[in-house]
Amino acid sequence: MAWARGGHHAWVAGFLLALCSLLVPGASAQRTQIKPGWNRFSPQDDISLGKRAATDAEKQLPLCNAPKVDAYLTELATRLAQKLPAGGVQYPFEFHCVNDKAINAFALPGGYVFVNRGAIEAADNEAQLAGVMAHELSHVALRHGTNQATKAMLAETGLGIFGAVFGDSAGGALLTQLGSFTAGGVLLRYSRTAESQADVMGTQVLYDTGYDPRALAQFFEKLEAETKGKNPPEFFSDHPNPEHRVGRVDEEVEKLGGAPANARRDSAEFEAIKREVLALPVVKKPRPGAAGAVAAPAPPSRSFAEYQASSYTLKYPDNWKKYPESNGGGVSFAPEGGVLDDGSGHSNLAYGLIIGVAQAKGDPNDENALRSATSQVIQELQESNPSMKITRQGERLRLNGQPGLSAYLSNVSPVGGQETDWVVTVLRPEGLVYFVCVAPQSAYDNYDKTFSSILDSVRFSK
Ligand SMILES: [Zn+2]
Repeated sequence: MAWARGGHHAWVAGFLLALCSLLVPGASAQRTQIKPGWNRFSPQDDISLGKRAATDAEKQLPLCNAPKVDAYLTELATRLAQKLPAGGVQYPFEFHCVNDKAINAFALPGGYVFVNRGAIEAADNEAQLAGVMAHELSHVALRHGTNQATKAMLAETGLGIFGAVFGDSAGGALLTQLGSFTAGGVLLRYSRTAESQADVMGTQVLYDTGYDPRALAQFFEKLEAETKGKNPPEFFSDHPNPEHRVGRVDEEVEKLGGAPANARRDSAEFEAIKREVLALPVVKKPRPGAAGAVAAPAPPSRSFAEYQASSYTLKYPDNWKKYPESNGGGVSFAPEGGVLDDGSGHSNLAYGLIIGVAQAKGDPNDENALRSATSQVIQELQESNPSMKITRQGERLRLNGQPGLSAYLSNVSPVGGQETDWVVTVLRPEGLVYFVCVAPQSAYDNYDKTFSSILDSVRFSK
């Protein structure tokens, strides 16, 4: 049920190019053509999924409640949306200003766009803000959210969802049934490829709307320069940096024939709106990890409950909760307080265990097959976790008598500081079964024994 795009758009683009070459003799290369990836959902699904998540988001996020600002965003984005190649789909775009100083913006499928005040405040001019919004609109048109969900479903057993939600900037994962806005969180985990596509299409939209097409790259450069050596802005955790991000945007600007001399950069409206936003009262959001904000979970109980999956059983501390994943064979276990909401609707696992099965074939005793499937899983994790690093890799162990591999990764913990992720993998007829034990580095020693007990209790069905 792939949603096939007609040839119409390509023709329009070709026509535009012909015009450009006539008008701008220097324009030699053709603009990059980007099409949405394979998608099991219909554009109508995007709209209904996005709407549900947006309703939740509106309840959970501190909105600016500044009608003039929302009206300005809507007007600006409507102009951009008119130049957005949306494959003939009419998305019901809605725009909200969020009273959050973090430099970030996100678009839910179907066109529900949330822009933090921080992004408006960080933009030097209207073209930069337009660049951020054009990037978000491109995620909508390219249907990256449901494309991601499609890939997760294809992986059948949840690797995609796992890879998609395992942490963003923050670390652990949890899962769709924690609420539809959280499901929205799943829909917002973009790959670097998706990011690069949104950058390129966003740049084209800027150009076609008459803005300086370099504005998006300039915004990124500015963010990077200002945060050198400090925590990167949230924008980069929700929109992970592809390699050579700025260079790729510049290249596209080049293909478009460069910035037109009369390109729009700023407006009096933008400057007025920015002043209004700067004057809004600041809403303090509870920051995970802030002193006293999050109590550490109770220590793991020494009595155990049994969990039975279709292909294995295990025992876990009976004061931990089970979070089955609705989309496949995955399951997570976490203590009360081990799952945190990062304040923008993403649930993160800070303490606990995530289990999933990734698609992989091979003889369970074939070490090469095990090694390559394991690398694949770790790569997936790193793809959606920019700060994740391998600290130890590839050590052999046995799990219920089966050959397995053990690796340690470090990542940013949702409670602040670093976390340790112990990954254990075993190749089984159903695929690569992976166990990810997660705890903040500072508390890891208190959990090490529990994790080992859980893994020791694993019994695979024959
Ligand atoms: Zn993005």
